[in-house]
Amino acid sequence: MIRDKIEEYGIRQCIDCGKCSWACPVSHRQNDFSPRTVVEHLLLYDEHLSSREMWDCVTCGTCSALCNSRVKFHEIMRTIRKLSVERASPMMTHGDTFDLIARLSSKPYLHPKTSSWLTSDLRISKNSKVLLFVGCTPYLNIIFKHLNIDFLQIPRAAVKLLNAMGIEPNVLESERCCGHDQYWLGDDELFLQLAELNLKAIGSSGAEEVIAFCPECYSTLKFVYPQFFGPLDFEVKNLTAMMGDAVAGGILTLKKDNTLSTTFHDPCRLAKHSNIIDEPRKILHSISNFFEMPRSGHTSVCCGVASWVNCDSWTKYWQLERIEEARATGAGTLVTACPKCLAHLSCAQYEKNNYDESYRFDIVDIHVLAASRMSSNERGKAELQDSKREKLN
Ligand code: SF4
Ligand code: SF4
Ligand code: SF4
Repeated sequence: MIRDKIEEYGIRQCIDCGKCSWACPVSHRQNDFSPRTVVEHLLLYDEHLSSREMWDCVTCGTCSALCNSRVKFHEIMRTIRKLSVERASPMMTHGDTFDLIARLSSKPYLHPKTSSWLTSDLRISKNSKVLLFVGCTPYLNIIFKHLNIDFLQIPRAAVKLLNAMGIEPNVLESERCCGHDQYWLGDDELFLQLAELNLKAIGSSGAEEVIAFCPECYSTLKFVYPQFFGPLDFEVKNLTAMMGDAVAGGILTLKKDNTLSTTFHDPCRLAKHSNIIDEPRKILHSISNFFEMPRSGHTSVCCGVASWVNCDSWTKYWQLERIEEARATGAGTLVTACPKCLAHLSCAQYEKNNYDESYRFDIVDIHVLAASRMSSNERGKAELQDSKREKLN
């Protein structure tokens, strides 16, 4: 079957330039791993990969983003996993908790209440044509309690920001995991069960637009669902990108704090899978003094743990190296736009903090940070709309 994919993923177009291997974070740490060599072997010998090669790739997409011949290497890795998943499975972190959540989430007779994070100050509307897709972020609050991060601030900030942009979104009472991890693990069966349930729920809500703040949810709904189900009946948008455009277009006004200095860690699913690079920077320039890290945009480095695989001493090393890179810019705050990048980078910091003060450094989510910088004018508008709503009620 992998031979069938040679044309689809452009393997034959490889010109053997080696850019992919130069950029691949795994190649940097393991001399025997090289996307270029894998491409060459698939082309010449139809060779199967070792289990280690198959699971060491973090599917970050750096190789594909930089390849002039448009070889979709990360998709090739996913296909190889799919072909092998019945015989070999990865070692997953956190005792397979996230896989278990996805499995429970795929049962149509279970209706997990995933909207209990909503607070009375957030304006949502059950009749809205715009749906906010929240994904598994609420579960992170339970699993990463020790990190002292309130992950629920992220969906709350998302609603506040949408309200400030004049949007009262709908939120599903009971939402399923988007299936991102199962897709990239090669578990198409579970992925399809989750996707079908989500599409049914989104269809029943009447949504014409679905907004995701999580880059994994966004890239899965936007690019993966149509591969299996054809064109969707709704448009998929990413909140970070919307905010960047709204700030540039004067629709969203954020107050600058001249004492705040930031740098940005590009999540793989945002920068490399979705090509959303400028928008978060527009937001950060408007609220802070922004410093760029040497590895940014298409050449940024992965947080190390995609789909809850590969949490080991090497990925911890990448994470600490990334925090050091952020600090070296002179910025006081490392900002990211993915709840899981926030968890993984903060986790490395948490472990290191026990004995090394140089890692005590703010790591925050861009939506939470932006919501804290909403101008009083925006808050005033929100309160005015609230009082109007109360009168109507
Ligand atoms: S970057 Fe693309 S063209 Fe160059 S070696 Fe890698 S796969 Fe081949
Ligand atoms: S997807 Fe990322 S980790 Fe995998 S081969 Fe490409 S650059 Fe390396
Ligand atoms: S880096 Fe931390 S948060 Fe990420 S998988 Fe490993 S233990 Fe979990």
